[in-house]
Amino acid sequence: MQGSTDPLERIAALGPVEPYRVKMVEPIQTSTREQREGWLDEAGLNLFRVPAECVFVDLLTDSGTGAMSHHQWGAMMQGDESYAGARSFYRLRDTVRELFGFSEVIPTHQGRAAEHLLFAELVKPGKRVLSNTFFDTTRANAEVAGAVADDLPTPEARDLGSDRPFKGDIDLTRLSDVLKSAPAGEIVGVVMTVTNNAGGGQPVSLSNIRGASELCRGHGIPLILDASRIAENGFFIREREKGFADRSVSEIVRAMSECADIMTMSAKKDGLVNIGGLLAMRDAGMAERIRQQMVVTEGFPTYGGLAGRDLDAMAVGLREAQNEEYLAHRIGQVRFLADLLRDLGVPLIEPTGGHGVFVDAAGFLPHIPRQQYPGQALALALYLEGGVRSCEIGSVMFGDDPDAYWPELVRLAIPRRSYSNAQLGAVATAFAALRERRSAIRGVAIVDSPPVLRHFTAKFAFV
Ligand SMILES: *Cc1c(COP(=O)(O)O)cnc(C)c1O
Repeated sequence: MQGSTDPLERIAALGPVEPYRVKMVEPIQTSTREQREGWLDEAGLNLFRVPAECVFVDLLTDSGTGAMSHHQWGAMMQGDESYAGARSFYRLRDTVRELFGFSEVIPTHQGRAAEHLLFAELVKPGKRVLSNTFFDTTRANAEVAGAVADDLPTPEARDLGSDRPFKGDIDLTRLSDVLKSAPAGEIVGVVMTVTNNAGGGQPVSLSNIRGASELCRGHGIPLILDASRIAENGFFIREREKGFADRSVSEIVRAMSECADIMTMSAKKDGLVNIGGLLAMRDAGMAERIRQQMVVTEGFPTYGGLAGRDLDAMAVGLREAQNEEYLAHRIGQVRFLADLLRDLGVPLIEPTGGHGVFVDAAGFLPHIPRQQYPGQALALALYLEGGVRSCEIGSVMFGDDPDAYWPELVRLAIPRRSYSNAQLGAVATAFAALRERRSAIRGVAIVDSPPVLRHFTAKFAFV
């Protein structure tokens, strides 16, 4: 509270205290509305086409955009750049074994490379894979390998306002039914995405993961953990699931991974690195077949398309991501922004998830019909107002199918350890200004669209 006379109240309003201090700064640029109008015009009203230099607070994604610690930078100086069997690989392998318990560890250049290698091994055309909700690259890799990929979320996941604690869960009843009714051998894997990114960063409970694991074991089907955000999921389990308040996040993460046979991971999230991924498993035979295949596209199996120094940064980052103070601050920052926006009357997906705030754009801009992309309209208005870059997650991203259901959202993804609470406050200030004149915000039309993944390169015009 700026106006409060009580200093302690004013301090509390500053938000969560950072468990780090700043050692290097990267200047960011403020700009005028006229400049931003010009840049946006040149970009065809697509924020992916705007140069990062023209952005003040960049909440486009939290993938690979975080700040590394001095421990990570120090470890990078010890990177072993040997082609085969580098020390860096063994340090990473031993860390993954210790933190997650998988004996076979294969580094990859990012999460989608791990998914590609895994599904090429697991899937034959006509097979099926199931999930609580597939992340978009995971789904794409399963489908490219010839599988049908089905989501089995619980009904609560669809209710944006419900504050159920584990909206990322898989529907165990449906999972059981599908596994029972499918012909033997048709379903080749069940993917548990923790946290459930596509569903608003919502966590999955340990009892749900255990339930899915039991069903899979009963049918001899591997359970695959998409562990990109597993540390954040572990934090939510400790906070919300009965019986875990006294357990450490590391213990909980280990309990989650014990349920799985295979793990894929984008280390650009809870590996706290700018690039990197992992594929890990228990089956040595499967790992050997994948190692033989990966040489063609990813590189030798002990470096997987990364430099030795990247492997060392990842080994340190995986451990730091499970640090309780780090997690409390990270999730606290997401809540800090959500609380400001909620109090400003901005409709949000509740409860706030792990990595960002999801704004219900259709609720904020009720005058803009779905055909005019309220999410894109809000993301553009936010950029013009405050130089804040966000990401539309709605009909631009998923398509115009009138029968399909998805909410029209804008995601404010918060990079790890990068922005101050005051900078997040500037984002809320921009929303306050938008709220005052929201009826003047215009919808958009798509004027140029590529055949696949159109949100990255499409061009728009205001209607
Ligand atoms: C980011 C992400 C991926 C894909 O990883 P990349 O490193 O971007 O290839 C897969 N699953 C989840 C849950 C993610 O958040």
